[in-house]
Amino acid sequence: MHVRKTSCKTPLRSIGDSLSARGVSRRSFLKLCTTMASLLALPTSAVPRIAAALEQAKRPSVIWLSFQECTGCTESLTRSHAHPLEDLILHLISLDYHHKLQAASGEAAEEARLAAMEDNAGNYLAIVDGAVPGPSANPGFSTVAGHSNDQRLLETVADAAGVIAVGTCAAFGGLPQASPNPTGACAVMDLVTDKPVVNLPGCPPIPAVITGALVHYLAYGAFPELDDEGRPIAFYGDSIHDHCNRREHFDRRRFANSFDDEGAKAGWCLCKLGCRGPTTHNACATLQWNDGTSWPVGSGHPCLGCSEPGFWDRDRFYVSRGGCARR
Ligand code: SF4
Ligand code: SF4
Repeated sequence: MHVRKTSCKTPLRSIGDSLSARGVSRRSFLKLCTTMASLLALPTSAVPRIAAALEQAKRPSVIWLSFQECTGCTESLTRSHAHPLEDLILHLISLDYHHKLQAASGEAAEEARLAAMEDNAGNYLAIVDGAVPGPSANPGFSTVAGHSNDQRLLETVADAAGVIAVGTCAAFGGLPQASPNPTGACAVMDLVTDKPVVNLPGCPPIPAVITGALVHYLAYGAFPELDDEGRPIAFYGDSIHDHCNRREHFDRRRFANSFDDEGAKAGWCLCKLGCRGPTTHNACATLQWNDGTSWPVGSGHPCLGCSEPGFWDRDRFYVSRGGCARR
């Protein structure tokens, strides 16, 4: 069986080739590089380096593993096609294994994963979505090709250059880890301790954040600087509250008290409806969603804190923790 034909891999050799084939002009390409440098909080002097790296680099082989998840992270990735920045993701990588997106199934899919690992030993990236049932849990909770999820993760990352935990379930355990956590669900970083691991939480994660982490890796050979939770500071350094479009109302003590009162209709602060924006770190307020159309708080829904550890168990949703004190 010819495995490569059934994988997601394309014959294009470099990222520059891939972008040229898509008709991306030089001007548009440089604009994307400038935007990326800005998102990554890099100086404009970094743009030539990013441009050179993206033009010349061979697209890294990526093995994408999915465990206990809802498919929202992959949905977010595949719905990114409308935005040139987000669309860039699939041109940055050679997606050699993704069991939901690839045409191959069964043994052919397994062979594609093993071939990608062998051909790119030491250089491929493993991207993971979903939490992993703990090693002490019944392995029957989740298996792929007869192997428990933790075995599969550790086997796959053994020769990886780095690991990207995409989405809150992979980064922090997410919903599968919520009490009473019947599967003993773990975050990727709980199990992978001998490789660089970058966490890109969010439920789902913002596609441009995934692109940003990959661009930095390609330009500098390393993931961006991380915070204490393993998240890139460029995207998770500020809180939702820091850049919220309702912040002026918070500062003036103008709060909605129900979802249909006059304050809600006037776009006032959602703190008293349980908004976790002040303690949640993510880039939703600046990058926004759906090609910049809007974002949850902008649309009238409190931030639920999806990109923080303990999402689900930390507090009850829609309930103010009191105070909404000035910050
Ligand atoms: S509490 Fe929530 S709605 Fe209010 S300003 Fe902060 S992030 Fe925005
Ligand atoms: S606004 Fe808050 S809950 Fe909503 S996606 Fe952003 S970080 Fe997650």
